[in-house]
Amino acid sequence: MPVYRDDVIAWIKSVAQMIAENSSYLTDLDSAIGDADHGANMERGFKAVINKLPEVSDKDIGTIFKTVGMTLLSTVGGAGGPLYGTWFLQAGMKTAGKMELTLTDWTEALEASLNGVVMRGKAELGDKTMVDALTPAVNALKQAIQENQPIHVALTLSANSAQKGMEATTPLIARKGRASYLGERSAGHQDPGATSTYLILKVAAETWQKSI
Ligand code: ADP
Ligand code: MG
Repeated sequence: MPVYRDDVIAWIKSVAQMIAENSSYLTDLDSAIGDADHGANMERGFKAVINKLPEVSDKDIGTIFKTVGMTLLSTVGGAGGPLYGTWFLQAGMKTAGKMELTLTDWTEALEASLNGVVMRGKAELGDKTMVDALTPAVNALKQAIQENQPIHVALTLSANSAQKGMEATTPLIARKGRASYLGERSAGHQDPGATSTYLILKVAAETWQKSI
């Protein structure tokens, strides 16, 4: 089974709930190497998304993603908001008109998101940002396609790879965003944006587990 429009809506709702539950965790991570607002930023953004969602819940997946992206762009400040806004806008462009997603559709959408985030934020792998979680997640999806894995297995592999990428940010010295101002003192702390990215992808794997 593919991922249907209603599954996408269920994912966005679960992401909003997960962000609210992990708001202090994300803010604590950001207080170590940033300005202690990542959890609050994400929570504000996804609350606005939840309010906006009923207006587009009968539309195609592309429209839903684009609406999420525009809502995040207009409600979340700092670096994280525009980057997550770009993530969903790019995914929305790739999925325009679609009412369901195959594994290939989702992989192409997430790759477009990654490319958009990289184009906007100019971070490279190893700069200690969300790119360090998103890149291995996309690579795992591509590999799963090569191996003809069913979609629920691919999603789990993708979330596990994002988790490893997130964990690998801890020893790194930040080269982008506020954490880079700390230089070597940024080492020894897990990146907040890589953490929210992992959590978002983990929720996708959990919510879409029945898609095979
Ligand atoms: P701000 O840094 O403006 O306070 P947030 O706290 O919401 O914004 O988000 C911080 C996260 O954004 C970082 O942990 C990092 O993962 C991500 N980030 C910051 N700058 C960049 C960038 N140039 N490219 C990719 N991700 C970035
Ligand atoms: Mg911050």
